[in-house]
Amino acid sequence: MLALAGYPLGLKFQFLDPAAGSPAGQIAPQTVADYDDPAALAGLETCDVVTFEFENVPDQAADRLAAATRVYPPPAALRVSQDRLVEKRCLASLNIATPRFEPVHDEASLRQAIDRLGLPCVLKTRRFGYDGKGQCVLSHGSDLPGALALVGQGPLILEEFVAFDRELSIVAVRAQDGSVASYPLIENRHEGGILRRSTVPSDTQPAVEQEAAASVQRLLEHLNYVGVLTVEFFEVAGRLLANEFAPRVHNSGHLTIEAARTSQFENHLRAITGLPLGATDCPAPAAMLNLIGTLPDKAAVLRVAGTHYHDYGKEVRPGRKVGHITITANTRAELEARVAEVSALLHPSSR
Ligand code: AMP
Repeated sequence: MLALAGYPLGLKFQFLDPAAGSPAGQIAPQTVADYDDPAALAGLETCDVVTFEFENVPDQAADRLAAATRVYPPPAALRVSQDRLVEKRCLASLNIATPRFEPVHDEASLRQAIDRLGLPCVLKTRRFGYDGKGQCVLSHGSDLPGALALVGQGPLILEEFVAFDRELSIVAVRAQDGSVASYPLIENRHEGGILRRSTVPSDTQPAVEQEAAASVQRLLEHLNYVGVLTVEFFEVAGRLLANEFAPRVHNSGHLTIEAARTSQFENHLRAITGLPLGATDCPAPAAMLNLIGTLPDKAAVLRVAGTHYHDYGKEVRPGRKVGHITITANTRAELEARVAEVSALLHPSSR
């Protein structure tokens, strides 16, 4: 999606991905190698600028490239986002409210953290978690043995369980000249830890919307960031608690391709190549539905007005995000009617 947004800007791409036949490799040259493969990294050193759209690339690989060419976002931002404890402390230091949290490294510190935070709470690995992986919810004392299975998988963080009203995200971008633009808050629905639906506008109170924009701006400035960054929030009784940030274009921002005046992908490329940022307003209501583990009948989807089909060209496997559909409409009621029609095509058995 970055390359597709970059071709009209006259950009050329070279991708590094360990998986042969990756979606990016279908539209631009791809080196198939590990992210820390020295020869593969040397091959990228001749690029004018290097970026990443996956936060688990090794920070040493980003550092190595930064010694030879420009790397945006800065590797230091990558490092912060790779450790949930460092990330939450960073957010808290910038006065961005988060769920209460405690570090955990063994059974004793887990018991102590549970005493402090109370039940229910969520135990997470500090590193390499995504889409709800490496997490476990503790509701009762009897859940402790299960949680202990995570202890030993590396350092952990225990968080209070937030009975949130909704999940929201803000996608924002900072240019090399320090200018910042943010998209409207996006409402997100997850199931089983995986994003299913994103919707804009989120109809959040203007003061809350402004608070989110101010928070992400503080974070971008603190990290001396260049590119797109996304903060995910829980909304509880009109208050926002930041769960995490992603130093990259984000799944919840996929709808900006059709819904915003400038997509997150184009704005990321504008930022990292030193171009002015484009407008981030979303003139009409829109929703994005992830295609997880299955691709629906394309013609049937496109028969619904306002639909845009994105097939990533991935091999279909259970639980895997293989594409998405964006639906735009003139009114919220029209959007919901169209989403219902498309959803029925995605889950025919639940009709
Ligand atoms: P994460 O990997 O932190 O993005 O978590 C994946 C999903 O788990 C989130 O989008 C939430 O739906 C849920 N979740 C994570 N942390 C918490 C929490 N502290 N309280 C309640 N739900 C959570």
